[in-house]
Amino acid sequence: MAANALGGSLTLFSVKGIKVHVHWTFLLLVAWVAFTTSRAGGGIPEILVRLGVVALVFACVVLHEYGHALTALRFGVHTRDITLLPIGGVARLERMPEDPMQELWITVAGPAVNLVIACSAAIMLYLFSGFHLTDPMEAGPLGGRVLTVLFAFNLGLFLFNLIPAFPMDGGRILRALLSMRLPRAQATRIAVAVGRAMAIVFVATGIFLGQPFLALIGLFVLLGAGAELRASRESAALEGVPVSRIMRKHFWSMDGGSTVQQAADELLNGGDHDLVVLWNGRYHGVLTRKHLIEALSGGRAGARLIDLGPVEVPPVPPEAIARTAFAEAMAQRWPLLPVIANDELLGIVDAENYAEFILVDQARAAGGHRRS
Ligand SMILES: [Zn+2]
Repeated sequence: MAANALGGSLTLFSVKGIKVHVHWTFLLLVAWVAFTTSRAGGGIPEILVRLGVVALVFACVVLHEYGHALTALRFGVHTRDITLLPIGGVARLERMPEDPMQELWITVAGPAVNLVIACSAAIMLYLFSGFHLTDPMEAGPLGGRVLTVLFAFNLGLFLFNLIPAFPMDGGRILRALLSMRLPRAQATRIAVAVGRAMAIVFVATGIFLGQPFLALIGLFVLLGAGAELRASRESAALEGVPVSRIMRKHFWSMDGGSTVQQAADELLNGGDHDLVVLWNGRYHGVLTRKHLIEALSGGRAGARLIDLGPVEVPPVPPEAIARTAFAEAMAQRWPLLPVIANDELLGIVDAENYAEFILVDQARAAGGHRRS
């Protein structure tokens, strides 16, 4: 799930460079808890107790997501951020490793955190009260109530995440296990089909038993499964493809000695989105349309392009694997990738021709499918 597309998040804190954001819709959850409590006749103390339970529950969700993120870090995969939504947490990993063993470890780490918390809480409950569970909303010793919440919630989250359906961890675990024997695309198809079947059972059971929440989870799983299938098709289209097959040979370039005004004129005559700046006939860097517009509006029409400080995107050789190279470009927010062999600029790869390649490949695959 692309949490950044949702916008409106507040950063809470950061551990090992991974920020935890809380999404604004979280306020709705707080308001809903306060509203339902007071409607049931509860006062401020009850509201505070329930919000305390919410805080405790989401602290466990954060630990679950850090379980994924810190395990990923051990395999050299960075996590952009963790966002808390009212329905749970989302860790945005920069990529998922192709090695099924690594994917398995990263995925299992999240639910494992919940299992450890649940077991620790159970042991403490046993030692202190002979495993007597206390309703957190009832009067009783605070320690017993906190331990009960920790035990019940973490056990629930652990079991829920083991359901073998995308986008839950169980779906990824199933896919990783299948990909140890099968090609990844086929493993994804099987895991997605299992997930969809489970989702339909959820929706049907939810409607039949009058449990709207269960039906909603089913719907969420159905949507997530579709997204996973699309992502996997894209990734299959790019399996082992070098940048030379994707790159564009016609692109907009100018000498670094040209002025901003000259570039602006060419831009109006149909220049690309980004400008490749050459220096002494060789690749030097990239200027975006935004750079040029800012320079123009800043009264620097006569400035040389080289003096604007083009982004020095490191070039890639034609045989570089497109997916890896492009993932790096996305992570660094580079506008495009220059492809260079023997000091000669052969072409560029940008988001547009990258997406076009996937589209063309999928269309070709679909055409091939109909014929067979
Ligand atoms: Zn997880």
